[in-house]
Amino acid sequence: MTLEEIMKLDRENYMNTFGQRRKVMFESGKGVELYAEDGRVFKDFLGGIAVNALGHCHPILTKALHDQADKLLHTSNLYYIENQARLAAELVKRTCADKVFFCSTGAEANEGAIKLAKIYYYKKGMDKYEVISLDHSFHGRTLATVAATGQEKYQKPYRPLIPGFKQVTANDFEALKLAVSDKTAAILLEPIQGESGVYPMDIEYLKKVRKLCDERDIALIFDEVQTGMGRTGELFAYMNTGVEPDIFTSAKALGGGIPIGAVCAGKKYAGAFEPGDHGTTFGGNPFACAAGLAVFKAFDEENILENVREVGGFLMGELEKLKDGSDGKIKQIRGKGLLIGIELLQEIAAEVFEKLFDSGYLTSLCGGKTIRIAPPLIITKEDAAGFVSALGKAIK
Ligand SMILES: *Cc1c(COP(=O)(O)O)cnc(C)c1O
Repeated sequence: MTLEEIMKLDRENYMNTFGQRRKVMFESGKGVELYAEDGRVFKDFLGGIAVNALGHCHPILTKALHDQADKLLHTSNLYYIENQARLAAELVKRTCADKVFFCSTGAEANEGAIKLAKIYYYKKGMDKYEVISLDHSFHGRTLATVAATGQEKYQKPYRPLIPGFKQVTANDFEALKLAVSDKTAAILLEPIQGESGVYPMDIEYLKKVRKLCDERDIALIFDEVQTGMGRTGELFAYMNTGVEPDIFTSAKALGGGIPIGAVCAGKKYAGAFEPGDHGTTFGGNPFACAAGLAVFKAFDEENILENVREVGGFLMGELEKLKDGSDGKIKQIRGKGLLIGIELLQEIAAEVFEKLFDSGYLTSLCGGKTIRIAPPLIITKEDAAGFVSALGKAIK
């Protein structure tokens, strides 16, 4: 089919949630590159929105998926699943989590985390159910995660929202403290807000939040759906901060492109789910968990976290240099590792984004002014330099 035919078929049959998509369709990929049906070659600096941690068609992941597909895809959670137990053990071994639960998406992982915090207090007979999250956050598209997402545009059509959720200004500890009550069950936040334009939380703020949660018996939940799985140069972003959450969630990069999410909980909350309290049909199936295991295998064999620190540091340095010589066109560089927001002068942002696309770089534009990049974690310094050079030309 031609792209025009596919666009027509999509228009006629697919719900219009994604609007006018970018007029390109990819047929294959290798590493950081994507190949479009019309022969154009792109460098994927968005990585499927922070999903393709290993890039496209990484041999370790591809082989693991082939092997698993030849054996078994799905059995249901009525039976024991070796890959599920092994992937859970990997996460427990490498993080502050004591137990893990697998689902299929980021929103579902956050739903699970919120439910876990609520049921913990329910079972203790405590009347604590409120969840406080932050302005400009993004936690997903289900009803509870929309209620937790501090952005009017996502909440408005779905009012009345699920009760018990409220948002306060990010990095404003006094505002958070004021919002906390005896009914607060959880504080939910992204260590670096991704979707709204890469806004990191201050470490001092996170330390105060941790202390507040300890003092007031509140679950501190980190949404690491975007920041997790090596994105910031540590396996999870909390590891950069010295602050451990009680519960954290993962998804996006966890399966390297295969849908899988995880609710990861430390000792205090991990036991609150008991038989029947939560569940899933697809979550943690043999195929999805084979993907997760392969991602960890590649991380270990190819020192991916080290690569993120090295290339991320280099990229950040080069971007700062570009900013310094940009005549104010680049306003700020934010982020950590390979999750970077490049805030531009509002008037030129859309045009720069288009020019980057035209020169073969996939990125995303957040809030109309910030170019967000989340490239595969396997990119080289040469790839990073290529992007900086393309950006330099685009802002000229
Ligand atoms: C993408 C994202 C989600 C939602 O994940 P889905 O898989 O789309 O449900 C939740 N939280 C954060 C921080 C995200 O970046």
